[in-house]
Amino acid sequence: MYKKLRIGILLFILLTVAVSTWRANAKVTGWQSTLQVALFPINADGSAASQRYIDALQASSIEPIGDYLGEQAKQHGLNKLYPVRVSLGPAIQSLPPAQPTRGSALDAIVWSLKMRWWAWRNTPATAIRPDVRVYQLYYDPATHSSVPDSAGLAKGQIGIAHLFATRQMHGSNLVVTTHELLHTLGATDKYDPRNGLPIFPAGYAEPELNPRLPQQFAEIMGGRIPVDEGRAEIPASLGATLIGPQTAREIGWIKK
Ligand SMILES: [Zn+2]
Repeated sequence: MYKKLRIGILLFILLTVAVSTWRANAKVTGWQSTLQVALFPINADGSAASQRYIDALQASSIEPIGDYLGEQAKQHGLNKLYPVRVSLGPAIQSLPPAQPTRGSALDAIVWSLKMRWWAWRNTPATAIRPDVRVYQLYYDPATHSSVPDSAGLAKGQIGIAHLFATRQMHGSNLVVTTHELLHTLGATDKYDPRNGLPIFPAGYAEPELNPRLPQQFAEIMGGRIPVDEGRAEIPASLGATLIGPQTAREIGWIKK
């Protein structure tokens, strides 16, 4: 009797999680109302440089993301004045659970559940309840030559962007943040994970160019600007990127 009850309760919880995840996904890719995105900075290495960068962040520092998404949406025929509103939330003192660098599919699922739990426990309240939360983890480039891989979870609408705390990298930090934000809406990577090179044609901003190389822009989920057969450059700002038709379809701008 009790066993049946326990199983019943467990099934009910699992069903509730599944339904609420499905409803959240349907809402964020329906584009009926303005998508509310909140960014939360985190001093990931506890350095003075990261703290200075975070303290200097203002609403205007992240404005280009909302403007960019508005312009790109228009290019794909979504005529909404503000499809996305990006706001800067308060800094968070706690660190999210580390992402497994090389683990099984089960490790990835466990991490994504831990991540959702951490986000639920540690995200400060904001005036508007965000549909998408992106945590920006900053590192001092003087002591970190590289940062961990960023991630965006389409289930739970949570993004984690690992960034360099220096003004020179601000433009590219916005590119990484936007890339992860698009993952949370269902956009997939369009580069080869073995070498980081964008995949033709979906990962190219202008696949129809003749000659094909060098390209001038990066497709945001392709990640880089292909310059020759074996080389692609990191875009310095959102202005050097655009959202291609496949990504636009994945996030619901173009109906499938
Ligand atoms: Zn990605």
